[in-house]
Amino acid sequence: MALLLALALAGCTRDAPLQHAQFFVLGTLVEVTLYDVDAAAADQAFAALSTELQHLHRTWHAWEPGPLTELNAGLARGERVVADPDLLPLLRSGREWALRSGELFNPAIGGLVALWGFHAEEPAERRVPPTDAAIDDWLAEAPGMRDLIIEGDSVRSTHPRLQLDFGAFAKGVAVDRAVARLQALGIEHAIVNAGGDLRAIGRPGDRPWRIGIRHPRAETVLAAIEVSGDESVFTSGDYERTFSHEGRLYHHILDPRRGRPAEGVASVTVVAPQGALADAAATALFVAGFEGWPAVARALDIDQVMLVDPEGRVAITPALAARIQFEFDPPALQVVPLDDTR
Ligand code: ADP
Ligand code: MG
Repeated sequence: MALLLALALAGCTRDAPLQHAQFFVLGTLVEVTLYDVDAAAADQAFAALSTELQHLHRTWHAWEPGPLTELNAGLARGERVVADPDLLPLLRSGREWALRSGELFNPAIGGLVALWGFHAEEPAERRVPPTDAAIDDWLAEAPGMRDLIIEGDSVRSTHPRLQLDFGAFAKGVAVDRAVARLQALGIEHAIVNAGGDLRAIGRPGDRPWRIGIRHPRAETVLAAIEVSGDESVFTSGDYERTFSHEGRLYHHILDPRRGRPAEGVASVTVVAPQGALADAAATALFVAGFEGWPAVARALDIDQVMLVDPEGRVAITPALAARIQFEFDPPALQVVPLDDTR
């Protein structure tokens, strides 16, 4: 849904020679839009991206058997494991951003994500939340990325319950990789959009790309920003991957401090140069909530952020407020200068 909204805006340049392709990978639809590329070059680029994205999908999958599940099995056995070269960058940046975010972004919580039933494609109506006892049991252990020791290209864990899950920033890393691949092929103007989370380079002609940000409570655009050059726009929302049980809705962004879905925020949008950091930060700030997010944004060196609460109230940094265009007036809009909240 977010994807279509973003595209509806991104693709609005009339008469422009835009080429599109779609790939279903990483649990989402990845839509690639190229501008000013001839058909043969576009086909070549799409074939390269298809191979690369399928490869990353297999390498990073958190529950289908592959390099990540093998790594997790080795870590659980207390072994020192040589990591797949395509896992290493996620281990390194995942560890760094986890520590900087006070482990609110914590890719070591694979065990908790599994406990909540998110390591399966099963129909949402059959989901049941874990028992309090099971959550407390995980919280008593609370593995974090601090427990992961990276030595060259091998890793080991000092915590037996540490299980890696890169779902919170794999899309961001994939979008960066796809953009790098396009640039290596000489493509200068493109959008790689993974389910509404995207990186845009160049511009479609003499106008910038126009990117829609989804309203967390309506299937419409809440706001839009113009992007040209090279920028990523990532949103984490409580409307993705949900299930309901006994009248309560549960979503997949977990607060590692409570072992439960993070509360108080409906969506967080981060604009940053790199997709990987924008994605990790959106998750971290979602967990940090309306009180804690400015400190985490500073720790992650992020200056363009917007949070929307379940009532539609908005908190936004000055840098993003200066360029965003709201389609609806939010019921409350608070501009939060990051420097003053220190
Ligand atoms: P989306 O993919 O909808 O944009 P996120 O980027 O926020 O959402 O990633 C959510 C996914 O990240 C979950 O499905 C789970 O695999 C993992 N995850 C959930 N909570 C955390 C957390 N606090 N830190 C790191 N990863 C998390
Ligand atoms: Mg994320």
